[in-house]
Amino acid sequence: MIPYGRQEINQSDIDAVINALQSDYITQGPRVDQFERAVAAYCDTPHAVAVNNGTAALTMACNALGVNSNSVVWTSTNTFTASANCARSLGARIGFVDVEPGTFNMCPNDLQKRLEQSQHTHEPLPDVVIPVHFAGHSCDMQAIHALSIKYGFKILEDACHAIGGRYEGKPVGHGHLSDITAFSFHPVKHITTGEGGMAVTRDSTLYEKMQLIRTHGITRDPDKMINPSHGPWYYEQILLGTNYRITDIQTALGISQLKRLDDFCERRRSRVARYRQALAELPLSYLEEKEYAQSAWHLFVIQLDLESISLDRRTVFEKLREAGIGVNVHYIPVHLQPYYHTLGFNPGDFPVAEHYYQRAITLPLFPGLSEQDQDTVINALKKILA
Ligand SMILES: *Cc1c(COP(=O)(O)O)cnc(C)c1O
Repeated sequence: MIPYGRQEINQSDIDAVINALQSDYITQGPRVDQFERAVAAYCDTPHAVAVNNGTAALTMACNALGVNSNSVVWTSTNTFTASANCARSLGARIGFVDVEPGTFNMCPNDLQKRLEQSQHTHEPLPDVVIPVHFAGHSCDMQAIHALSIKYGFKILEDACHAIGGRYEGKPVGHGHLSDITAFSFHPVKHITTGEGGMAVTRDSTLYEKMQLIRTHGITRDPDKMINPSHGPWYYEQILLGTNYRITDIQTALGISQLKRLDDFCERRRSRVARYRQALAELPLSYLEEKEYAQSAWHLFVIQLDLESISLDRRTVFEKLREAGIGVNVHYIPVHLQPYYHTLGFNPGDFPVAEHYYQRAITLPLFPGLSEQDQDTVINALKKILA
C-alpha cells in the first residue's frame, strides 16, 4: 500500500538519536532547548516551548491564554478533532466556523457573520479563536486579526499542517497576527520527533506561563515564588500544569529533521505540481493557493466533481484502496462527530464544510513519494474516473 504520508529518516537522524541515547541526558537535557531555539529561529520569532505532541501544544497554549470552563473557543469545523478538544478538555464551550471554498480554511466572512449574530442575540463572544491552516495553507490572517481587534478575542494558530509554509512572505509561526502558534511533529507531518509538538509566541509572559504549564506549574526560580525559599531544594507549584515534556531523544531527531524542512517542502511542492498537471483533465478540482500564502503542502486533497461522474466518493475511494493506494479523507467535519452532536451541533450547521467533505479524497503526498508510485496513483485515478 502506498501510504498517504510517510516520514523520511536518514543516517544523520539515526546518528543524532544514538548520540542522545549515549549522552548524560535522555530527557530534560540540552537538546530540548536547542530544538526550541532552532524552530524559533526558523520561524523568526523569539520564544518556543517544545512538548510531547501537537495536541499538548494546543492545550497548553489554550491554558496559557486563560481558557477555562467559563471560556468560549471557536475553531474551524474542517480539522482534526484536537483543534476543538484542546479547549473542550479545559472545560470551554466550543463553537465552530464554516470554511471558505478554494482553501477550505476558516472563512473570515462566516466568522464575521457569527460574531455579529452572537453580539446581536447576546450570546457570549469567543475568548479565543483557533484558525487551522488546513493542508499547510495559511488562513486569511489579516482578516481574522482585524476581527480579533474589533471583537476582542485572542488567536491561537493551529499550524500542525503548516510548518515550512509562508504567509505574506513570512514564515508560519512568525506570529505578528496571533498570540500563539502550535505545531505537531507526528510522523505524517513535515518534520517528526515520533510524537512531538511545539508552541511558539512573541509574548514573553505567555512563554513563561507555557513553560510552567508544561511541567506541573512548578518553578525553581526564587523571583517567581510566592513564599521565601526554604533552601536549595525548594520549588513551588504556582499554577496548575501537567507533564507535557518531550525527551532529548525525540528533540535530537527534531533538530536533525529541521535541517531538511525546506527540502521536504520543496519536494512536496514538486509532487503537487506533477499531480496538478497529470490530473488536469479529470472531473475533479484542487485546493487553491492564494497570493498571500505559500502552502507547506501537508496534504494533497482532490474534490470529485460528483455532478459529472456516475460514481460516488465512497466507490472511488474503495477502488483506489483496492489498487493499493492508501488514500484518506481530511476531514469529517468535527461538528458531525457524535461527541459534538451531544453538545448541540447538527448536520446542516456548516454547509460548506459538509459539501466539501462529501467530495474530498486525500492522495498520497510526502517527500519520498517516488515518480513510479505517483504514476500508480495517477493512472488508477484516470482509469477509475474514465
Ligand atoms: C496532527 C494534528 C493535531 C494534533 O497533533 P498530534 O501531534 O497528533 O497531537 C492537531 N491539529 C491538526 C490540524 C493536526 O493535523
